[in-house]
Amino acid sequence: MRKTDIITRLAPTPSGFLHRGNFYNFMLNWLFARKQGGKVFLRIDDLDADRTKPEFVEAIFRDLETLGLNWDIGPSGPDDFYKKWSQKHRTDRYVELIKSLSDKDFTYACDCSRKSLNEQGFSAEYPGICRKKERVFQLEVTSIRFNRSTFGFDSGDPVIFRKEGIPAYHIGSICDDIDFSVTHVFRGKDLSDSTRLQKEIAGAAGIGRFGDIEFHHHSLLKDNAGQKLSKSIGNASRMYFDTIFADFALWMGNPDANELPQNIHDLLASPLSII
Ligand SMILES: [Zn+2]
Repeated sequence: MRKTDIITRLAPTPSGFLHRGNFYNFMLNWLFARKQGGKVFLRIDDLDADRTKPEFVEAIFRDLETLGLNWDIGPSGPDDFYKKWSQKHRTDRYVELIKSLSDKDFTYACDCSRKSLNEQGFSAEYPGICRKKERVFQLEVTSIRFNRSTFGFDSGDPVIFRKEGIPAYHIGSICDDIDFSVTHVFRGKDLSDSTRLQKEIAGAAGIGRFGDIEFHHHSLLKDNAGQKLSKSIGNASRMYFDTIFADFALWMGNPDANELPQNIHDLLASPLSII
């Protein structure tokens, strides 16, 4: 692969204000692409319409601009996002992937509710009880699950299409990474199971190219109590932006504590190695 063919993506979800860990993740993806002369794709993951709010979409653009994290592919601002780039415009494409999985017998309809599962004593992973039912592919009547039995799992089949008419995160993520020619993904360790699952789904659908994407999983930033950071609901303070480049470099194990980057240009010039 030529270095200039490298494409990474920033994939924020507009269901809350982003936190420091999200920005570190963006910096990793951004820095890797920019150091190689590759491209950056901004993909805003808004499939979960119930949780998407305009103020969070606006904050994404504002924060990225403040930090100087620019991109080559994707919406130029909120209006352009709603008009052309929202994942809602790509539902047909996502359904196409679900249909191809269905044609290859990797899906089944499931009408179990969380409540009914709880009543039967299942509380953790979905136990696969609908696998044996007749395979009917009827969008918007039942939820559709991906059958992981071929991959050695008895349980944990994920919903890939919700009966409310919404394709699941994994489907959107796979299609977008393929269609926008993403080559490298840096994501948190908490998503390593998702990576495995997405590879299974893409493999089942016969999308060989997905296997060429390089996935790297980085450690997660914790709060002072050692907990994983979560999206903030209130209007998050951005005071930490003042030192975020230096803090990021330290987190990355910057070799020289006296030479910490103060801005995006310093960061790009720094000797930090990403992989
Ligand atoms: Zn079921």
